[in-house]
Amino acid sequence: MKEKGLLIVLSGPSGVGKGTVRKEIFSQPDTSFEYSISMTTRAPREGEVNGVDYFFKSREEFEALIEQEKLLEYAEFVGNYYGTPVDYVKETLEKGKDVFLEIEVQGARQVRKKFPDGLFIFLVPPSLSELKNRIITRGTETEDVINNRMSVAKEEIEMMNLYDYVVENDQIDLACERIKAIVVAEHCRRERVEPRYIKMLEVE
Ligand code: 5GP
Repeated sequence: MKEKGLLIVLSGPSGVGKGTVRKEIFSQPDTSFEYSISMTTRAPREGEVNGVDYFFKSREEFEALIEQEKLLEYAEFVGNYYGTPVDYVKETLEKGKDVFLEIEVQGARQVRKKFPDGLFIFLVPPSLSELKNRIITRGTETEDVINNRMSVAKEEIEMMNLYDYVVENDQIDLACERIKAIVVAEHCRRERVEPRYIKMLEVE
């Protein structure tokens, strides 16, 4: 029997650049995992193609998919539904291929419950690690601005605890390299590799 693929989930706060990083990863010829194209009710943006960027659906169609349990996860984000097709994900994993999801945080939480042994990567903005420094050295922000930034940062840091790895998106190419390195390392993790060797001994 073929070993199952790895479910890779890239998520992070809104505006961190998840989409840009994902597009860069999939533009690289050595990327070996499969991108799961999401369903959405939002209108296509200029240049977006149905079945390539998203599967564009009406609200009625999307709600029918929810009813029929065709979605691994879904969330409403800025007034539109977004969701991951469950059949595609399961079939691709069964074929032994890694599947990559790029989804917002509510969806990632649902996937974690269904696929606890997936690989969950949290992308963070560089502003998060620089935040305190910048506020202290600049000293020009009003108290309101500082408090607002701090509360956004607090929320972002709290979100991290669902994830296995945190990648800073300071430079797109570096963020992509880190994500790919994490996937390679994850494939070598003892807990994932050991069962294969144990099976080998059973055959002997
Ligand atoms: P956009 O409308 O800019 O393409 O995407 C908006 C947000 O929806 C992004 O944070 C993106 O990661 C997220 N997203 C895209 N596809 C899915 C999905 O299938 N499920 C969930 N939960 N979020 C998604």
